[in-house]
Amino acid sequence: MPNESDKFDFDFIVIGSGFGGSVCAHRLIEKGYRVGVMEMGKRWNPSTLPKSSWSLHRWFWRPKLGLRGFFNMRFFRHATIFHGCAVGGGSITYACTLLTPPDKIWEGGSWTGLANWKDEMPRHYRTAALMLGATENKILGPADLLLKRTADAANCGDTFYRTNVGIFQPTDDRPGNETFLDPYYGGDGPARTTCLGCGGCMMGCRFGAKNTLDLGYLYLAEKHGAKLFAETRVTNVQPMPNSDNGQDGYRVETVRSTAWIRKRPRHFTTRGVVFAASSLGTMELLFRLREQGSLPKISAQLGKHVRTNSESLIGARMPGHHEDLSQGIAIGSGVYIDEHTHIEAVRYPSGSDAMGFLTTILTNGQPGPRRIAAWLKNIFLSLLRHPLKTIRVLQPYGWAREFVILLCMQALDGEIEMRWRRPWFWPFRRYLASWGAKVPTYIPRANQFAEKFAQVAGGFPMSMLPEILFDIPGTAHCIGGCVIADSSTNGVVDSHQQAFGYKNMYICDGSVVAANLGVNPSLTITALAERAMTFIPPASQATWNAPADL
Ligand SMILES: Cc1cc2nc3c(=O)[nH]c(=O)nc-3n(C[C@H](O)[C@H](O)[C@H](O)COP(=O)(O)OP(=O)(O)OC[C@H]3O[C@@H](n4cnc5c(N)ncnc54)[C@H](O)[C@@H]3O)c2cc1C
Ligand code: SF4
Repeated sequence: MPNESDKFDFDFIVIGSGFGGSVCAHRLIEKGYRVGVMEMGKRWNPSTLPKSSWSLHRWFWRPKLGLRGFFNMRFFRHATIFHGCAVGGGSITYACTLLTPPDKIWEGGSWTGLANWKDEMPRHYRTAALMLGATENKILGPADLLLKRTADAANCGDTFYRTNVGIFQPTDDRPGNETFLDPYYGGDGPARTTCLGCGGCMMGCRFGAKNTLDLGYLYLAEKHGAKLFAETRVTNVQPMPNSDNGQDGYRVETVRSTAWIRKRPRHFTTRGVVFAASSLGTMELLFRLREQGSLPKISAQLGKHVRTNSESLIGARMPGHHEDLSQGIAIGSGVYIDEHTHIEAVRYPSGSDAMGFLTTILTNGQPGPRRIAAWLKNIFLSLLRHPLKTIRVLQPYGWAREFVILLCMQALDGEIEMRWRRPWFWPFRRYLASWGAKVPTYIPRANQFAEKFAQVAGGFPMSMLPEILFDIPGTAHCIGGCVIADSSTNGVVDSHQQAFGYKNMYICDGSVVAANLGVNPSLTITALAERAMTFIPPASQATWNAPADL
């Protein structure tokens, strides 16, 4: 008798190959399903990765302008959001920090009480950490040592810690850059090279030391049968005719994401679908699909409870510093300056100075015209006092060798909303637009810490230009928008990450996170996806048409 699944191109199509998507692809393949992964970004390898951020076309993602890199920056009224776009999602550009958030995150937000999270999650965090090769950082660079000295001077030196990172580290007595057969997956994974502390993690690791998803979860999924379609953007997902809740499967439409003219539209059929296109990507796709009538039953809560981890990027630039501050790993260490505020020392590799255009002299005070005036005054006074040094800190060349970014995150809750709106300047189509109360760009205690850092290191305290000029914080940690909740009145997915209103449709990415984590989110996104996959039975026991808990 023919298998009913044979009518479909795939059992599951996973949209996006980042942290959530890669976990799903791997676990679904393990359970015996036929899996297709659609990824908008390109596939990268050590020889195609850019050597520095000046190689804009290989770094930045704006395919309409011919930029086909793996890093994207989206500008909204409430935040500038940085995210990844590649085979391996954000893992290609991320800084490898894998931290477990405090237990209190399960006590607030719409997921509270839906599961015994505090009991259940530790084992999924352990699996995620093992699969991502998380381990304590062994390589402290000069920037980490400066962070420690500053923390000592600020009376919080006892909170200094080495980050947990997904990097294949050298053994204590070895210099790095040595190749070993698969150290992580019992011989099933690829050979790997140990880290040499070049600070280049956010430009993509050209040495094979960073545990990116294409060398882990995704590698295993593809090796065991998942079919990955790179440079393929999903444009439509629609229940098959005869049922409006997807119980008879879905039709998924795609176009070539990097093409200007020949977009090569294709379509696939699948029994189930996993949205894993990141918080922004999934919200954007679902808003469009709801508007065009493909998925009209997606909850009205779509776009609500978006969080930015209350991040602020500040730092210090030490012109002519005797050490190369780009050495080490991208985020080697952190400190807690108070119970809510966490600061990490971050760097780009030597030569990757393009971000230098976005940094300027730190200015205190509440945002608005007064702060801009104070900033202009600061620059003027600094030019009078130290003309050459000031010009040097304001121009980008040498930025990565002389700059330490201080990534400040607060575990205090605060959220915005994303809406699907027509902008006044382009009324022909709708776009994502942020809404709600402002996200604070000014965290006085963090600014004081940056000032102390500059004092200890002999440099200038700095901050991001958009924060001063437009009062818009930068964040690499956009989460929420399709949060886990008890019903479609309060969220978009249930506690198994199944979309309300549809069958065999899951959301497994940062969009489901229902609280401010206060730490980098990738480990939590991975652990939640691991948990969600445990509720899907093996293919041999699949019950595609079972009544839905709608
Ligand atoms: C510079 C930088 C540094 C960071 N450092 C850290 C860190 O140290 N630690 C940490 O925990 N987090 C870090 N992050 C954040 C981290 O990268 C994200 O939180 C994480 O990648 C989100 O995982 P995800 O599964 O939600 O989606 P992603 O990993 O973003 O993957 C989503 C994928 O979906 C694809 N996609 C989107 N739309 C479509 C579509 N329509 N069709 C097909 N594909 C689509 C995208 O191209 C992308 O590849 C960093 C981020 C940046 C930008
Ligand atoms: S520090 Fe350099 S070698 Fe080590 S993981 Fe990062 S990019 Fe790779």
